[in-house]
Amino acid sequence: MRKLLPGKLVIASHNQGKVREIRALLAPFGIEPVSAGDLGLPEPEETGTSFAENALLKAHASAQGSGLPALADDSGLCVAALGGAPGVYTADWAERQPFEGAPGRDWYMAMGKVEGKLAEIGPDADRFAAFVCTLAIAWPDGEEAVFEGRVEGHLTWPPRGTLGFGYDPVFVPTGGERTFAEIAPEAKHAISHRADAFAKLVAAVF
Ligand code: IMP
Repeated sequence: MRKLLPGKLVIASHNQGKVREIRALLAPFGIEPVSAGDLGLPEPEETGTSFAENALLKAHASAQGSGLPALADDSGLCVAALGGAPGVYTADWAERQPFEGAPGRDWYMAMGKVEGKLAEIGPDADRFAAFVCTLAIAWPDGEEAVFEGRVEGHLTWPPRGTLGFGYDPVFVPTGGERTFAEIAPEAKHAISHRADAFAKLVAAVF
């Protein structure tokens, strides 16, 4: 597999939270991260039907636009009883519709949608879920690499905890009792889907 050499790497994301997290993870490897936003690169539409497709789409767009290697992340929550939904549409499920108030993302509403669909199945619905994170690296000559990480657990209701983000308050990792929003960020990062994907990336390209 192609190695990532010390030097500039575009973080193909306009999400400052993700850029910050990825920057910290890359710090020990002599990589100089620059964000796609800082380079004024356009954000491609996420038209893929899998995490890998979307991550590759973003990584290739930034690599082509900058002439530098680029790293992108696509992630989401997959609920087995819902056929893997919300999956690649995880962020979309939080998007408010015009009749639901001011535009923007409402995570409480998104968690409620998931719970509502499980309730439709009935009290015995399988509550197994996994967070998935796919990292893609693309080089300007078209070479690419993909790494997938996951953390398994179950969904609880009502939401608990104030830490983390997104769907963390309803996700209890396997073997634990507290949700991702009730445990310290370091504890989450030790087992998270993003950490898992990063460990695979580090083993392969550094
Ligand atoms: P995207 O990768 O930017 O398309 O967004 C994926 C969505 O999945 C995020 O907006 C979050 O809501 C959700 N998500 C991804 N990782 C996590 C996590 O670690 N905790 C909670 N929600 C997450």
